[in-house]
Amino acid sequence: MRPAILRRGSGALPAALVLAVVLIAGWRLIVLSLQRHAAEAHRAAVVEASQTAHAIETQLQALTALADGQAARAANASAGADAAQQLSSLVPIHNAFWISADGIAVTADPAASTATNGILAEWNGTRHSDATPSLLGPTRQGSQWLIAALAPIGAETAQSAPALPTAWAVVYTDLDQLLLAIQVNRIKSAGYDFALTQLDPSVTQPRQFVSTSTAPLSAPVVLPVRLPERYAPAAPGSYLQVAIRPHAGWYPVTQIATEIGVLAVLAWLLGFGAYDLTHSLQRLRAGLSIYRHRLGGLRSQLAVETDRRRELQKSIDYARYHDSFTGLPNRRYFVDQLDRALREVRSRQRERLGVLLIDISRFKFINDSLGHTVGDELMVQAARRFEKAAAEIESVLARWGGDQFALLILDVAFPDAALAFAAVLQDSLEAPFELRRHRISVAASMGVTCVEGGTARAEDVVREADIALSMAKKNDTRRVLMYAPGMGGAAANLVSLEADLHLALRQNDLRLLFQPIVELQHYRMVGAEALLRWRHPVEGLLLPERFLAIAEEAGLMVTITRQIIARVCRLAVQWRQIVPQTPFYMSVNLSASSLRDPQLVDFVSGTLREAGLPPDVLKLEVSEISLISNVGAAREALERLHALGIQLMLDDFGTGFSSLNYLQLFPIDYVKIDRPKVERTSGGRVNSGMTPAMLQMASSMGLTAIAEIVETEEAADGLRKMGCEYGQGLFYSEAVAAEVALGYLRGEAPPKRSSAPPVSAEPTELSATTLTAAANGAGKSPEDDSPTLVIPIEDSGATMEVPTLLRTFRG
Ligand code: C2E
Ligand code: CA
Ligand code: CA
Repeated sequence: MRPAILRRGSGALPAALVLAVVLIAGWRLIVLSLQRHAAEAHRAAVVEASQTAHAIETQLQALTALADGQAARAANASAGADAAQQLSSLVPIHNAFWISADGIAVTADPAASTATNGILAEWNGTRHSDATPSLLGPTRQGSQWLIAALAPIGAETAQSAPALPTAWAVVYTDLDQLLLAIQVNRIKSAGYDFALTQLDPSVTQPRQFVSTSTAPLSAPVVLPVRLPERYAPAAPGSYLQVAIRPHAGWYPVTQIATEIGVLAVLAWLLGFGAYDLTHSLQRLRAGLSIYRHRLGGLRSQLAVETDRRRELQKSIDYARYHDSFTGLPNRRYFVDQLDRALREVRSRQRERLGVLLIDISRFKFINDSLGHTVGDELMVQAARRFEKAAAEIESVLARWGGDQFALLILDVAFPDAALAFAAVLQDSLEAPFELRRHRISVAASMGVTCVEGGTARAEDVVREADIALSMAKKNDTRRVLMYAPGMGGAAANLVSLEADLHLALRQNDLRLLFQPIVELQHYRMVGAEALLRWRHPVEGLLLPERFLAIAEEAGLMVTITRQIIARVCRLAVQWRQIVPQTPFYMSVNLSASSLRDPQLVDFVSGTLREAGLPPDVLKLEVSEISLISNVGAAREALERLHALGIQLMLDDFGTGFSSLNYLQLFPIDYVKIDRPKVERTSGGRVNSGMTPAMLQMASSMGLTAIAEIVETEEAADGLRKMGCEYGQGLFYSEAVAAEVALGYLRGEAPPKRSSAPPVSAEPTELSATTLTAAANGAGKSPEDDSPTLVIPIEDSGATMEVPTLLRTFRG
């Protein structure tokens, strides 16, 4: 839909309507106003006209009074005989004369004869036979209009004898003077045009004598001028009339123009206002519709958002109870279901439940060596297989944790049925897994428990299965174990190792031993590998294989490694002070997680700097497995370490997936060839199997080889003959306490092959052999270890006494 704001033109129609209404109404008002104005003007004109007429009447009365006076005077003077004679001797007043009975004008002023004759002639033309006083004129005499009053002399007498001819007294005046007396100019200045006319029945048009306007007045107010009493017009039927009209007319143009102007302005204002109003109204309406539109949009957005929230809530709920990788229910869900099932058992709705905890073996190894993606994929595939296996029975399968699943079997016919089902699950794992180009066989350990009646709580049931699982994991022969009462104590140890490890770290129960690395040609010690031990308060001295995996899983390896590096550096500082002339190095093993530690390089360089050590004192050992698990991070860390001048050793070379790629990919300086095979041919010559090939390859790549796990003299000899430069192993020395290793460095005689094979050697109380046996968990019990022979990885750094043990290797 096109927005309303884009529609145009409709604003003109209302404006035009308003304009029309305003114009019509305005016009009507103007007309009314003009009419009213005209009426008022008319009224005023009537007043003016009547005043004027009255003034003229007054003048005429004065004129007639003069004539009457003259007539009376003449009558008195000429009473008796010879009236004509008498008249001629009687001098009339100014502008007056007599007319004798025989119609002759008798005048005293010869200069006025023109006026006199004119009046007489006019009067003769209209002369009445009766002796009625009359008013003559106006009559033109030259440039003047004259009005004359004629009064019969001796009128009373005449009445009694009407046949008698009558003499007349005539008084006249100039019309101009008359008008002057009535101040015609005042009328003009009052805004009126004025005319004096005479209606005469003998002519059709009134005669006009005076006018202030050149044109005849249109539609004037006309009032008759009444003659004084007794007087009649000389021309019968005629009478004077006054015509008055406003000079501007009845409808003055200026007023009309003003009013029209006002109307136009008003119309324009209102029209424009209406136009503007409709426009703003339209804009408003358009704005409103836009807002309504937006509101609609918002409303639908809101609906979408609400739906999204609802979906989100659903997926949150799903996530709360499900594992994102496998899509299986999670631990929380499992425990809820177990709770419910237990209630049903209590209320005898169910007879027997089975709970299985399943642990995928080697999961951590796969994760570390092939990467987390492969590990995750393995869990997903395992989940699918278990799901399929459990599809037929009424059960709940859940992801329990990292590499563990849990299965709740809701109806177990007899206790061993749960165990039997564990075997079914085992079978489902039999076929190897296809994981990103790897084919991997995986087994699982399982702990099983059964619940029949009773008041067991969910956590108790789970703990039983967990204990059974711990035992199964330790058990080499049977991977599935049913929980039995009494199992708890044995399993507790294992379960609590992780907790103990945290404690050990705080209490400095982790120690370091050092295994010498020997230069074979001269049996001279050139360095030592730091190896970790844990003095467990109950279990005794533990080897790395017992606790390294736990430490990795508990995320403690980064801390432990840093502590080892710090400790090794402190020790190196002491050794350099004690044997300043003897060059040596110490090598530290880096776990996969330490390689991922982003602060590792900074930590190492900082520690070296603080200790004032040259970088060649420290070497770092990495295994192929730890490199595989995170090539990118490892490569970056190793490059940086190498750039610091720290040499790197590839550990366990020849055991793992061993590809030459790693040697090229990483800045490796040393390879540690694990358990070199040295066999003699019947001719007494050294076997030319894998070991010489590896040695050859190492030297061709510019790498230094160290043969490790060298146990026999035979092997040591063979290696030397093959040209192997360095060796490490029980034949030279087991891992020993720091002060022992220092002793080797100091002693004139370097660590050299024992006079007898180590294990069979007479173990002196503090001999290296004893240590090895103890360290490897064989021979004496761990408690026999002298605490002075292992050093804590975090200690006060006090200088150690050089042990007496050195003598073992002398001579
Ligand atoms: P590795 O780095 O290959 O260390 C050599 C292992 O072989 C040591 O075992 C050592 O005592 C043992 N060994 C040396 N010579 C002989 C011999 O002639 N015969 C026999 N049978 N064994 C010999 P250990 O100390 O039990 O360490 C086992 C593994 O634990 C090490 O293998 C290393 O991978 C790891 N490890 C030890 N200490 C540390 C550590 O501080 N950090 C890390 N990340 N790993 C460590
Ligand atoms: Ca090593
Ligand atoms: Ca090794």
